[in-house]
Amino acid sequence: MKKTFQERILFWKNRKTKQYPWLRLPIAAIALLCIVVCRIGILAAGNGKKWMSVGIACCFFLINSSFCYPETMQMSEDAGEKFPEVYEELDRLRQEDPDTDMLEKIWKENQAYLEREKEEQIAPKEAADETDETNSFDKNDWRLTLVNKQHTISEDYEFPLGTIKGNLQCDERILEDLNAMLKAAKEEGIDLNIDSPYRDYKTQKYLFNRKMEKYLSKGYSYLEAYRVASTVVTVPNASEHQIGLAIDFNCKSHPSLNEGFADTETGKWLREHCAEYGFILRYPKGKEYITGIIYEPWHFRYVGKEAAEFLTEKEITLEEFWEEYLN
Ligand code: ZN
Repeated sequence: MKKTFQERILFWKNRKTKQYPWLRLPIAAIALLCIVVCRIGILAAGNGKKWMSVGIACCFFLINSSFCYPETMQMSEDAGEKFPEVYEELDRLRQEDPDTDMLEKIWKENQAYLEREKEEQIAPKEAADETDETNSFDKNDWRLTLVNKQHTISEDYEFPLGTIKGNLQCDERILEDLNAMLKAAKEEGIDLNIDSPYRDYKTQKYLFNRKMEKYLSKGYSYLEAYRVASTVVTVPNASEHQIGLAIDFNCKSHPSLNEGFADTETGKWLREHCAEYGFILRYPKGKEYITGIIYEPWHFRYVGKEAAEFLTEKEITLEEFWEEYLN
């Protein structure tokens, strides 16, 4: 919560007033006494003008103390509601050192607060610059399409299906970068093999149901089986494989799709070079709570070179990218 110095001082004064509400009565009594004395003085000395001035001054004081104090107290309660942190801060300061001049201490704290504020003003500017830099990303860009359990594939999503080789297919528009990556790996002696690229709804449904049956046969309840299965195999219509932008890779020395692939030369090479060809490791370790999918060192997603390098450098998932830079 941001507090100006004036707010702090006002509150401090108000709190002090609130601590001594009994002051109001004696002040009013003293003022009344002054008027009485003035009146007697006028009568006794006959020096009208001089004593009248004193009387007016006393009346002013009386009015001031009678009307301003209750108002100030009301403000004090408001201040407590608006600035509860100030209450706590003052209590803390008092407890720390009851003898210190409170105003001086608040002044020092305020100086430190202003310094911090100045630094914060510099920081948001840098952040703004960064946002500008990412403004080149367009949320309608097909390469950035977000598909997960919360964002299933829309019914009208269309894309051109291209052939990698044989019956292996993917979005035709990623073929050039994908082939470049396969070629580069080959040239560097990396055994990079495509395990599973595009899958249609029927295949995804079959894979998911097969996993469901596995957990149901183990005695899981339907809901529990669904919960576990959906972290291992993507729910139909929530799979990036269905839009032809995801590829599962493996290698001869490690044909299984499991965590062990991460330690193979192929797995390491992919992590290091995929962004150069527009791919990202889509379900990284430690981000399962964001993606909703287990660590999959074999599953890579095409997002385009610019976004791939941005996401890799920032170490963020596609979900975080959408949340922070595209919404
Ligand atoms: Zn996959």
